[in-house]
Amino acid sequence: MRVLKFGGTSVGSPDNIQKVIAVVDQCAKEEQVAVVVSAIGGITNQLILVGNLAAQKDSSYITVFQRIKDVHLSFTKELTENNPETLQKVTRHMNDLEALLQGIFLIHELSPKTIDKLTAFGELTSSIIITAAFNHQKVEAHLKDTRELILTDSTHTKAMVQYEQTNDAITTHFKQSDAKITVLPGFIARSGTGETSTLGRGGSDFTAAIIAAALDADVLEIWTDVSGMYSANPKIVKQAQPIAHISYHEAMELSHFGAKVLYPPTIAPVMQKDIPLYIKNTLDPEALGTCISKDGNGKNTPIKGISHIGDIALLTLEGTGMIGISGISKRFFETLSSLDISVIMITQASSEHSICIGITQEDAQKAKKAIDTTFAYEIALHKIDPVYIEKELAIIALVGEKMKSHQGISGKMFSTLGKNNVNIRAIAQGASEKNISAVIASKDVKKALNSLHERFFEDQRKQLNLFVMGVGNVGGKLLAQIQQQQEYLSENLNLHLRVIGLSNSRTMCFKEDGIDLTQWQSTLADGKKADVVRFRESVINLNIRNSVFVDVTANENVAMSYAEYLRNSIAVVACNKIASASAMQNYSLLKRLSRKYNAPYLFETNVGAGLPIIDTLQNLIASGDRITKIQAVLSGSLNFVFNNFTSGSSFHDVVQQAKEEGYTEPDPRIDLSGVDVARKILILARESGLTLELEDIINTPFLTEKNLNSTDVPHFFDTLKEDAPHFETLVSTASAKGERLKYVAQLENNKASVGLQSVGSESPFYQLEGKDNIVLFYTQRYPDQPLIVKGAGAGADVTASGLFSDIIRLRQY
Ligand code: ADP
Ligand code: ASP
Ligand code: MG
Repeated sequence: MRVLKFGGTSVGSPDNIQKVIAVVDQCAKEEQVAVVVSAIGGITNQLILVGNLAAQKDSSYITVFQRIKDVHLSFTKELTENNPETLQKVTRHMNDLEALLQGIFLIHELSPKTIDKLTAFGELTSSIIITAAFNHQKVEAHLKDTRELILTDSTHTKAMVQYEQTNDAITTHFKQSDAKITVLPGFIARSGTGETSTLGRGGSDFTAAIIAAALDADVLEIWTDVSGMYSANPKIVKQAQPIAHISYHEAMELSHFGAKVLYPPTIAPVMQKDIPLYIKNTLDPEALGTCISKDGNGKNTPIKGISHIGDIALLTLEGTGMIGISGISKRFFETLSSLDISVIMITQASSEHSICIGITQEDAQKAKKAIDTTFAYEIALHKIDPVYIEKELAIIALVGEKMKSHQGISGKMFSTLGKNNVNIRAIAQGASEKNISAVIASKDVKKALNSLHERFFEDQRKQLNLFVMGVGNVGGKLLAQIQQQQEYLSENLNLHLRVIGLSNSRTMCFKEDGIDLTQWQSTLADGKKADVVRFRESVINLNIRNSVFVDVTANENVAMSYAEYLRNSIAVVACNKIASASAMQNYSLLKRLSRKYNAPYLFETNVGAGLPIIDTLQNLIASGDRITKIQAVLSGSLNFVFNNFTSGSSFHDVVQQAKEEGYTEPDPRIDLSGVDVARKILILARESGLTLELEDIINTPFLTEKNLNSTDVPHFFDTLKEDAPHFETLVSTASAKGERLKYVAQLENNKASVGLQSVGSESPFYQLEGKDNIVLFYTQRYPDQPLIVKGAGAGADVTASGLFSDIIRLRQY
């Protein structure tokens, strides 16, 4: 004997019901089958809705009722080709339903007992239609009303099964019946007083398990809309995978903690009889699904799955009067139990100073009222505080039987959540160590599940979610590089890069599943109006794990927004150097926030574009070395300018060319005044451990007063023309000595300076070509021969690739 149960989606359309018939027909060729069916998908919710409307005297219930009736009649027509007998039966049920709703409307009341009568129509009608559909396909099937088999108490909407009578009734019926296929409505049962009762929402799974256990079935199969029990809810975690084997205990724990694919009470009856339970997909019958059995027969993986329960409230009872007094917990829990409130999670501080429990949000007020009454005396004496409620919470749970023999799982769990700025409100670990659960804010659930899944299941595969602001020259190149390398990164580094948000100065756009980088331009053009603050708010509100803000602008407002990103554990990668070169106080704040919130702040491209200058410096310091001197040519643009500026040529034209080729900042004065280089040496000085401000950098300008006082960029270019003789003198004086002009930055004895120098052929700077940069690090370990980093130090391609390396570096965090 085999018991198969088909859920709401499986019987949710005439097409799907045909699939059900095919699966059952195949099975029935080998052995006898009991087929438990749910209501048509969504109908139970509709029935509850229509009942509530009627009870509230809202006459729109009639429209909802009509919809319910239409669905059932159209299914019947399609599946039985208007079989009159079936149509009559279904119509009769719909008439009864209508009469019941009229009654509810008139008496203005909906008791649990009436809810059961009402919701029962879902399964009662679906089972009639499905049986008729089988017979219409010439697959002979019999219908048996489960209310004649399953006996319960009178706890309506979630009745308790009376197993002795139930098992007798089931075995007796199947002994007498020789039907190859018996269709049974799930969910519904009968109370001792003969009323219709139900087994709780999702209870059709349980019906099937009760029947399987009573009949000592060979197997129980739960057919649903997913290919098994997954490592996490596949609707929330895209990377989740079906679990091939899992033990009864693990499956029970997962379903208890919210894996809706299985109604929690389902496992107990089959576990007692050691009947294997399979979860299969009606929409993909070939998929292997999940086998739930005694030992789980699985690999030695400590964690099998992650689940969550939403709409949780935490109740805390606290007070000095609780210490050392016995019986407080007893009174506390007795109060809850008297109200039938189920406690999902308990955490008690070892100080005995507080009790903290997780219950459904729905029960919270009721529970508080009752507990405050129970402890009214102690509260009046200020020995205990009134119950404190926190809402909008969820419980997430890591489940696995082998967890107890593995160390460090909770550490991994909490560090993963911490890194993603998920605040943990309470923690509990079952004594059996089959699960570790934590209470977090509802808004963090998706992020928490995805980051835990990544940590425990995805073979160290990491996904970084990027929000890129600034898609000009460098930003555009960065997006092209990301697109080009996506496959390589995924295959070789197990790294998946997704761009979720983009902004330029005009528009911004977000796509939670990732922006298609082959057409980001049009997606962005169709976006909303750009706004730095709103962009940041959206990034924070999206609340996605491993979020990275990439600043490819040169904008001060954007630079000033990093702190808020870091505070929300969002990493910042910037080629914009304004923040790192801002007031020391702000620089230190960003560093501090980065450490505190575990959110890297990377800005390698601030100095020398893609060259590993800051990285080298940080490695030297981290390994215990000490910087004694830095000498550097740090401006690709100035190097380009002075390499191309020879005696007799026009300084103005060379600067113009540098600007056109993208080697200077949009405002070339920032380069030529030395401010840009001063910022760079300032950043290197700070990374070397010095406390310096931009004003502390000695900057001897080579520009004239007139150049420096120019009002805007075009005016600046005019003054370059006007002061041509000044520049001619500079270059001809140098070349007369056989020297070259280089713009040099220097750091020594805690002092930094920048300025134009005339260097002879003995200088390492003399041969520096094009737009190259060079940095000479003199340290305790490199006292005479410096450690040199040299190469192209400007240009969109190398800057983009520097940003790219910073982003890739984040995979280690
Ligand atoms: P049915 O109507 O067939 O009983 P349910 O909706 O009750 O189906 O259960 C299936 C749903 O359970 C899936 O569509 C999925 O969204 C949800 N679910 C939650 N957690 C898990 C999990 N760990 N594995 C599989 N499905 C899960
Ligand atoms: N139809 C019921 C519900 O939606 C029972 C079930 O489908 O398992 O809760
Ligand atoms: Mg279900």
